[in-house]
Amino acid sequence: MNKKIRKIAVYPGTFDPITNGHISLIDRALHIFDEVVVSVARASTKSPLLSCEERLEIVNESIKGKKNVRVEIFDSLLAEYAHEVGATAILRGLRAVSDFEFEFQMALMNRRLRKEVETVFLMPALSYVYLSSTIVKEVVRNGGDVTNLIPEPARAALIKKFGLK
Ligand code: ADP
Repeated sequence: MNKKIRKIAVYPGTFDPITNGHISLIDRALHIFDEVVVSVARASTKSPLLSCEERLEIVNESIKGKKNVRVEIFDSLLAEYAHEVGATAILRGLRAVSDFEFEFQMALMNRRLRKEVETVFLMPALSYVYLSSTIVKEVVRNGGDVTNLIPEPARAALIKKFGLK
């Protein structure tokens, strides 16, 4: 009889900070995979507001209580990192059409680098389709309400970062 192979997905991103869109994707992925590793990119072309350690800590607090999810920092070539983790898939999210071109390019490059690791795209709940970490930061910075858009640890971290009360 075949030994059951654990299906692991890595979910790479900047998570600056994690939003409910990201959480929606993690929850959906848990129906498909045995384990999801949220992988916080140390180096990001996006010049994150929060440090890598802060982003990791916020994810950690936000996934508390969820089974089969863990978070770690990664700082290497994604395809190689996924292979080292033992992942069969790289999880990415698709929101609007605007995500498509870059994601398509990245998926094909990662396939070229490690053909056994598939990129899997999931869509978030409809209410998070237009949600991004960037827009959330803008709203919080200007004193707007982000209830139900980001986990509480993310909101608290942004308030602190912007020196707001
Ligand atoms: P990156 O810098 O790698 O794009 P992000 O943290 O912005 O990092 O996003 C990580 C992944 O999560 C990407 O695949 C992105 O499309 C997806 N994502 C971001 N926000 C949402 C959302 N609201 N719904 C679904 N997927 C999302």
